[in-house]
Amino acid sequence: MQRGLEIVLLFANIIAISNGSPEHCKPKVAIIGGGIGGASAGHFISELFENVVDIDLFEANKIGGRLATVMLQNNQYEAGGSIIHNRNQLMKDFSELLGLQRRPSSTADLYGVWNGDEFIFQESNYEVMTLAKLIYRYGMDPVHLYRYVNSVLDDFDKIYELQNDRRGFVNVTELLAAMNPNFPKMLQISMKDQLKNLGYSDRFIDELVKATLVVNYGQETDVQSFVGCVSVAGAGSALWSVKGGNRKVAEGLINKHQHIRTRPYIVEKITYNSEYDWSTQMLSSPNYPYTLTYRKKGEPNVQIDKYDIVIIATPLTSDQGMSIAFANFPNNEDFIFPGSYQTTYATFIEGQLNTTYFGVDESIQGILSCNPEKTIISSVGKLSSVEGEDSNVWKIFTRESLSSEMITKMFSKVNDKSSPIEYEWKAYPKYSINDKPGNFKLHKALYHENAIEWAASAMEMSAIGGRNVAILAYNDYTDRCTRLKGFRSTQRKLNSKIEL
Ligand SMILES: Cc1cc2nc3c(=O)[nH]c(=O)nc-3n(C[C@H](O)[C@H](O)[C@H](O)COP(=O)(O)OP(=O)(O)OC[C@H]3O[C@@H](n4cnc5c(N)ncnc54)[C@H](O)[C@@H]3O)c2cc1C
Repeated sequence: MQRGLEIVLLFANIIAISNGSPEHCKPKVAIIGGGIGGASAGHFISELFENVVDIDLFEANKIGGRLATVMLQNNQYEAGGSIIHNRNQLMKDFSELLGLQRRPSSTADLYGVWNGDEFIFQESNYEVMTLAKLIYRYGMDPVHLYRYVNSVLDDFDKIYELQNDRRGFVNVTELLAAMNPNFPKMLQISMKDQLKNLGYSDRFIDELVKATLVVNYGQETDVQSFVGCVSVAGAGSALWSVKGGNRKVAEGLINKHQHIRTRPYIVEKITYNSEYDWSTQMLSSPNYPYTLTYRKKGEPNVQIDKYDIVIIATPLTSDQGMSIAFANFPNNEDFIFPGSYQTTYATFIEGQLNTTYFGVDESIQGILSCNPEKTIISSVGKLSSVEGEDSNVWKIFTRESLSSEMITKMFSKVNDKSSPIEYEWKAYPKYSINDKPGNFKLHKALYHENAIEWAASAMEMSAIGGRNVAILAYNDYTDRCTRLKGFRSTQRKLNSKIEL
């Protein structure tokens, strides 16, 4: 009787194994999105699997995504994500790995904060003078906030150690809690209330802190306080950009790995093969758990391909230009992505700022608004090209498209051969204290990098999100693979027992 059972088991196993080659454990991976998040995921998946992996990276537009440059008069300027903080470890590592140089970000120039009536604060050429002006207006609040944000960054740094140890997190709350158990609570209190509770003055919050949020996120101090701290850190002085353009990081990471195949298609649908047997078939071709349906822009014919692992590296809220449908998954509610993204217009103008309109002196190179309802602009800043050369090009961030009348008022001279050029971005999530932090793991081998943006949206955050989903995918896959190999060696033992 016992021997009969063993023979039945043996046959069952032989059938399962003849479906493929489990020893290889070489997954076929799809990454949807070629921004910094998708590029980071592709890079770390390649590293973790030691290149024993096939990756198709789908990008409907340009590699880089929200890292893009705009061309004016033969020079390029950052049009999307531009500043990188000195403590952004992954962006630093990527740049070094790819041999890219850094350049100081344009924000090192002289800025003033405008409320629509007057400049309530203006930087000086001398740092000591700027500090004295700050203390005169806001007391010790700027110094205390600098220390507070640095303490948040000290805890934030723990993520690098955790990721080096291959710790993956299935949702945003877990990831934040691993840095500091109190971080998830920061998502439930507004920046304004958090700072008020810590004793900061209304004036400081409503002027300087608000100005950083308006320029960095197009939003105000009612955002949750984690992104509020990231915003303040992004207004510091240790800021840089990649020479040649930040998008070079995404391009470089993708091109570095020969087995990453870039596929210029729009992915329309991900279908779960519910017949798929996760305990035996997982590594075997031609059985895969997920089918992607995709097409070339403007072409009617759809194509399909199947994958072991799918990583989504693009936002999934319903306001995005290219939506992805999910078919055949058991829990529909896992595929509802609430919230929306803040629309930000970036307008590029080559010309002369009309300083009389703003009521400011000629030396000013940047204006931050602390009252965007009145000022219309969120910020105006003079740019250096991505090569670090000075220019007469200005970038204006607004919440609505800038009218030609406004441009005529704000600029005394415009080079109309080159400008204006307008970019409309779905730039970053619209934050509130009611956001539900999302999941990185959507299904057994389906992951979403951009869940991290609901903690804070930034290049470094997407790089960390990409690494997190790479770790999750690797751990899940190798875990199943090891179990299957164990299953196979048990089976070999069983085999030799029968021979005896
Ligand atoms: C104006 C602006 C200013 C910013 N400033 C800063 C800053 O100074 N510092 C900073 O750190 N961050 C900044 N950010 C935020 C930062 O740029 C983003 O957080 C980051 O680049 C997001 O990267 P990502 O790879 O996650 O997403 P994305 O860059 O959006 O990449 C997603 C990619 O997926 C592609 N895609 C989408 N759907 C599909 C589909 N169905 N099929 C195929 N491809 C698809 C898109 O074309 C896109 O290329 C800024 C963003 C904007 C817009």
